[in-house]
Amino acid sequence: MLNILRHIIQEVSSAQDFNEALNIMVKRIANALATEACSIFLLDRSHGEYVLVATQGLNPQAVGKARVPINKGLVGLVGEREEPINIDDATIHPRFFHVAEVKEEAYRAFLGTPIIYHRQVLGVLIVQQQAPRRYDEAEEAFLITLATQLAAIIAHADAIGALAKLLVSSKEKQHELVYSGVPGATGIGMGTGVVIYATLDLNLVPDHVPDDIEAEIKLLDSAFAAVREDLHLLSERLYPSLPPEERALFDVYQRILDSSDLGKEVADRIRAGNWAPGALREVIQSHIRHLESLDNEYMRERAEDIRDLGRRVLSYLQKNDRATPHYAERTILIGESLTPTDLAEVPEGCLAGIVSAKGSGNSHVAILARAMKVPTAMGVGEVPIHELQDKEIIVDGYYGQVYISPSQSLRDEFERLIQEEQKLDATLEEIRDLPAVTKDGQRIGLLVNTGLGADISISLAAGAEGVGLYRTEIPFLMRDRFPSGEEQRIIYRQLLASFAPKPVIIRTLDVGGDKPLPYFPIKEDNPFLGWRGIRITLDHPEIFLSQIRAMLRASEGLNNMRIMLPMITDVTEVDEALRLLRKAYTEVHDEGYNVELPQLGVMIEVPAAVYQARALAKRVDFLSVGSNDLTQYILAVDRNNPRVANLYDALHPAVLRALIQVVENGHQEGKHVSICGEMAGDPVAVLLLLAMGFDSLSMNASSVGRVKWIIRHFTKKKAAKLLHEVLSMENAVMIRCHMELALERANLGKLIRAGR
Ligand code: PEP
Ligand code: MG
Repeated sequence: MLNILRHIIQEVSSAQDFNEALNIMVKRIANALATEACSIFLLDRSHGEYVLVATQGLNPQAVGKARVPINKGLVGLVGEREEPINIDDATIHPRFFHVAEVKEEAYRAFLGTPIIYHRQVLGVLIVQQQAPRRYDEAEEAFLITLATQLAAIIAHADAIGALAKLLVSSKEKQHELVYSGVPGATGIGMGTGVVIYATLDLNLVPDHVPDDIEAEIKLLDSAFAAVREDLHLLSERLYPSLPPEERALFDVYQRILDSSDLGKEVADRIRAGNWAPGALREVIQSHIRHLESLDNEYMRERAEDIRDLGRRVLSYLQKNDRATPHYAERTILIGESLTPTDLAEVPEGCLAGIVSAKGSGNSHVAILARAMKVPTAMGVGEVPIHELQDKEIIVDGYYGQVYISPSQSLRDEFERLIQEEQKLDATLEEIRDLPAVTKDGQRIGLLVNTGLGADISISLAAGAEGVGLYRTEIPFLMRDRFPSGEEQRIIYRQLLASFAPKPVIIRTLDVGGDKPLPYFPIKEDNPFLGWRGIRITLDHPEIFLSQIRAMLRASEGLNNMRIMLPMITDVTEVDEALRLLRKAYTEVHDEGYNVELPQLGVMIEVPAAVYQARALAKRVDFLSVGSNDLTQYILAVDRNNPRVANLYDALHPAVLRALIQVVENGHQEGKHVSICGEMAGDPVAVLLLLAMGFDSLSMNASSVGRVKWIIRHFTKKKAAKLLHEVLSMENAVMIRCHMELALERANLGKLIRAGR
């Protein structure tokens, strides 16, 4: 079997295109298993249906046409259960679903296995045979293995657009109903769209069906009248002193407003079913588009006049507090660039999801959303914001995807996922207070990452053993100036006191890169390779010292604080930071504070630090790997760029080897080594990190339960075997598949899926 497997994989890898690869796959599998039919169904998420994309043995005419609803048939059942289904007579199974065009009536024996990539079901691979029989275990294992290989091929096809082409060509083009961004906060949110737009930004005004058309038209008339009056007063007051060209501008404005056309056009759009601000946006934008397309400088400039007028009218339309959104019971908050205040304004208990056209998983809003456990998709650039008011929306925060007006079957599918998550959470609660220890006695510390006051209670409730990373930049980002020493002391004190006597690692300010402070602007071509983290704070010792002093004062009487330095690339940075720490310590001590000198650690998040881990470990008390940045710098992949997101994988063999080196070097110096990037909370990576010998893992509060569950269900011996196996693999996709399969085999598959 192994040989056949190798041959199939080789042949499939050399296929000309995706279609050919699928066809080779079904033919070779049917031959290898001496079975009459083999077919691949791929999931078309936007329609909630499986599409037959390749077959040997079913009706070839049905390829690209036959569709099975996601919750129907045995194919749907395999996808739902996310595990193989092996039955000797499919035709008498209660879930048998007859799709006339595939002509499968003659087949009785059925074996189907899900095709899963990154914990997402992509499709179903099935084999069938006329005579009733049960496929044996070896055949089942063979099919599962091929399905994991197929998953990687499909994922690649998806990344290059071949998958969408294949699925869309089989149905009219409607795939714009799904929009992709990047994950902001995990979970699935279902609810009604509420669009937040910056007042006075006409472009962002959403569409909205008005309750009373005549009332909207009245409102519009009075807004036009008010602007006319304003312009009249302005021109009267200013006319004598106005230079002629400005005077001409007022004349133009007046003329545009007085021409009944503009008002009439807007009124027509209101009658066609949009509220006044939306109708105004439609009309103004169409005029602007027209003027800007003209080959005449003067006319092109008139576009600005129209834009300005639009803004003026809009400001009157918004005067009667209609800019305040009407929140739905289950609000999906949508905006171009949402702010933390937008989130805070939603009444308690009503925020079901967040969609932001701009931003990344590291944006403020995403961090806040994670703390509030609200499923969030960020950077969904293409999403048609102003069409989403009052629409039914699903936010898949695991994948950063947004579904608009989803079909019933898709809703059912997501509801099933939500229920699965809730069940899982209840199970995980049972081990909340138990330690993370393997079946053969290996213990590992589980800590949380936090950055907001609001996180503290969630983190405490997660059963963590302390804080492995407190990101101090968050309170800095939330203000319009540097927080004072005393403000900082209060924040740190609250954190330390909440967790005492458990340890809390506070990281010094890590701004720059993608986290600019609004009041400390840094303009750089290459911010990720520029002035960020420790580089800024060492260049500004007054900022560094004020922060360290605040931390030291906050720790008085608690002594559970440790300090960590971000973005270290050179030992001299550590030497300098140590000098400043001692200076601050002496000052605080001299002020009368009775504090201990805290332990100091460095983050290993750039390749240079990996190669100097031992020299760094000599100088400090602990090392903590920042796998988010380390992955981005080793793989040269911007961690926030959705376009290269498929290349960003912390399971890349190069990253794994770097991690092993850091643990070894840290331990050679007898120092504690932890990891605090997202990888630490990824169920698929956990066993590898355990086997590498990390002393502790620090993650989002929501991952603690899942990670602990996995650790408690495995042995260190098995984890070591898995690490040994993946180290012989040459790419992240294979490693991920291998680890997912290991979890599936241990009946822990549900954990990865719910924690997608
Ligand atoms: C990291 O880089 O992995 C890390 C934990 O730090 P941050 O995500 O804040 O850059
Ligand atoms: Mg980092």
